Amino acid sequence: MGGRDATMVLLDENGIRCDGRKIDEPRRIMIKAGGLKNADGSAYIEFGDNKILVGVFGPRDVHPKHMSNTDTGILRVRYHMEPFSVGERKNPAPSRREIEISKVIKEALEPAVMLEKFPRTAVDVFIEILQADGGTRCAALTAASVALADAGIPMRDMVAAIAAGKVADTVILDVNNEEDQAGQADMPIGYMPSAEKITLLQLDGVLTPEEYKKCVEVGVEGCKLVYDLQKKALNDKYFGNKGD
Ligand code: UDP
Repeated sequence: MGGRDATMVLLDENGIRCDGRKIDEPRRIMIKAGGLKNADGSAYIEFGDNKILVGVFGPRDVHPKHMSNTDTGILRVRYHMEPFSVGERKNPAPSRREIEISKVIKEALEPAVMLEKFPRTAVDVFIEILQADGGTRCAALTAASVALADAGIPMRDMVAAIAAGKVADTVILDVNNEEDQAGQADMPIGYMPSAEKITLLQLDGVLTPEEYKKCVEVGVEGCKLVYDLQKKALNDKYFGNKGD
């Protein structure tokens, strides 16, 4: 939590946030399943001003072979930010942050993917952040779940993700970039609704035990909204007339 612009009003006297949202209102979310013809599965998400493309490949042979596991498949995730995705050009070399987020997303997806069904193989998830505006790991995790489903990878459920947080001593849903920088807490949550299981939970900032509980509750409810949009994206592609 930075405090980059101490003068910014994050929550006004009417309970309206810096981008005009109410405290429990997510940003506009649009998810599209499919779109990349050379990938086995793909998805595109717009989550507020975040724009993210995900391509999934596999299950496929693992090279070098010693990286494979005879008992189970392996999931590999690469989260990559385009240099032009942020205001101040990002160095194209992989950053510690990108390596960490790749690991966090991989671990959040693993409980959802039935890796035991395809031993000795790998499923690769490539995440391209085209435009970033706070909450890219949640948006990317959400889109990656849809892309895995689009690839026909056996899954227990999809993981839906959104962040809860705190600004002006108030718990909010879906933290944007300004709120992330100048607010008091940011708690990204990934959730599998059918299993009622949280697979991602991070916290940057300080919360009281009550605020912590409220953030988890608000975040899980937010994930359920995201989940409906994930299902809609797959329905639109496979049962509607908007697919590829
Ligand atoms: N960000 C940036 N430059 C960077 C990395 C991040 O401007 O090199 C911005 C970007 O908008 C990102 C936000 O900072 O969404 C918050 O980053 P954080 O590490 O909290 O991850 P995120 O919220 O995107 O999951």
